Amino acid sequence: MRKLFEIGGLAAAAVLIAFGIGALVMSVQGRSTVQDSLRLEGIVGSPDMSPAGIAAEAKKAGLPASVSLPTVDVAGKPIDTGARARAFASYMRIHTLEATGGLTYAAMPRYASADGKGTSDIAAAVKGPSGKPLDNPLRNLWVTETALTTALNTSYLAERISLFGIVVGIALLLSGLGFGILAIGGALRTASSGRAETPAPKKLPAAGPGRLATRRFRATRKTTEWRFVMKALVYNGPGQRAWEDVPDPVIEQPTDVVVSIQTSTICGSDLHILKGDVPETPPGTVLGHEAVGTVIEKGSAVTTVEIGDRVLISCITSCGRCRFCKEARYGLCTGGGGWIFGHTIDGLQAEYARVPFADTSVYKVPEALTDEQVLFLADILPTAFEVGVLNGGVQPGDTVAIVGAGPVGLAAIMTAKLYTPGRIIAIDLADARLAKAREFGADTTINNGTENAVEQVMALTGGLGADVAIEAVGVPATFELCTELVRPGGRIANVGVHGHSAELHLEKLWSRDVTITTGLVDAFTTPQLLKLVTEGRLDTTPFVTHRFPLDETMAAYDTFSDAANTHALKVVLEAVPVAYAAPTEKHAVAVG
Ligand SMILES: [Zn+2]
Ligand SMILES: [Zn+2]
Repeated sequence: MRKLFEIGGLAAAAVLIAFGIGALVMSVQGRSTVQDSLRLEGIVGSPDMSPAGIAAEAKKAGLPASVSLPTVDVAGKPIDTGARARAFASYMRIHTLEATGGLTYAAMPRYASADGKGTSDIAAAVKGPSGKPLDNPLRNLWVTETALTTALNTSYLAERISLFGIVVGIALLLSGLGFGILAIGGALRTASSGRAETPAPKKLPAAGPGRLATRRFRATRKTTEWRFVMKALVYNGPGQRAWEDVPDPVIEQPTDVVVSIQTSTICGSDLHILKGDVPETPPGTVLGHEAVGTVIEKGSAVTTVEIGDRVLISCITSCGRCRFCKEARYGLCTGGGGWIFGHTIDGLQAEYARVPFADTSVYKVPEALTDEQVLFLADILPTAFEVGVLNGGVQPGDTVAIVGAGPVGLAAIMTAKLYTPGRIIAIDLADARLAKAREFGADTTINNGTENAVEQVMALTGGLGADVAIEAVGVPATFELCTELVRPGGRIANVGVHGHSAELHLEKLWSRDVTITTGLVDAFTTPQLLKLVTEGRLDTTPFVTHRFPLDETMAAYDTFSDAANTHALKVVLEAVPVAYAAPTEKHAVAVG
């Protein structure tokens, strides 16, 4: 009997040892294969995005070290080097995917020619390996990124399972050996103590970004899932902003599109949020509500926007179905639209953005126009035009007093001119801004820090006052100034964003038939403004005072928030820096 136990024990030990060795060998092999593929895919996020840097990474991974990219676009225009580097990076990314299996064709991303007009042409010219043009390169690029996400998640899981396999293999081997020794020693009755020889399982390595040599593929603090991340300007609570990793946006509703942001800008309301003046904006929100970008993915219910379309994304989103949207008062939308970007949902100062209600909220940009020509139609132009000029009822011949010569005040000057007013008077405390106001078309400027604005306006209007006063600052003093400047029967249009209560002198105003209007922009005039820009009647490019690459948004904020010293009006953020020709017109061309 004892002998039988010993023979059985030895056999069991041999089986355990065999299984242990098998598990160990397979797990080690599997692990090294998975690690190789992870290393290979690490090229996706090579921190050095220059062609040379990516070529070096490629060589390390055993991929072709060079690939020839066109230096001119299909129109024969030169492609700038930054765009070529990006195209190269994408080529390598897709090539890597081919090497690791599953994907069958390569695609190139959009990239701009020097005049910014090459975008869609190039996308159309990209050929798949079969030599046929891809039906939609941008879409394909997106799909492959999603596929890579899945592949990497699976690989990472496999890597951890294989590590567990190694631990189990070692445990089986050691217990087999222990079991065998005990069997030979005939000490079967003390077998339970043999377990002491089994080592405790090794602790699994913690998951962390360092485990993949990628920059753009990692778990962020917003999610525990591993997926592609992008860079965006994030509001992290009052006074705190950062250009940091956040998960790529995805389609959440069938009416959404995802847009690759090409050009964006910063607004005064972004600074209000950063000050903590806008409590409904939660920390962690991506800021920004003005941008031009390319649609790279669309929800199943979107019918008027196609993948690859270059679109203007307005600060106002419209559900198109609520009572206010049906009245074209989109700013008041109660169906989930209104001012939501960078306010109640993630905004547009980012590499990618999700745009809800795409059919009713974005505008296709005419081919002939640059991003900069239409960018300010996202906010300041419709704001000044609708809430200032139209609410103020500016008529031909009117004297229009505009208090405040910041970007919105200047936009009010520009759009008031569409109605051929008799005289535009700009009032501000800064001489530099008043000089800008004259460039934009103001006929008279008054520095109300050194001059008496009311006396001057009365002198210019035969003692009556201005027909229309537009408030474009947002403090009590400037609103009250407007009520003193306006003529009996005149109109005061408040555009400024007020943080405090202002005094309304009804004891002086009650008998003067004065109309006071307030409002948030509805952006219902955006198609009209787009037509004026297309026809060369409106040139908004003089608003641009500074340009920054999108990934230098932090520096752009420093410049924009120090406008008193930098004289910044609008700072433009460009994903792929494009060398625009200098604007030829200094201000708007009036209809005439
Ligand atoms: Zn704004
Ligand atoms: Zn609505």
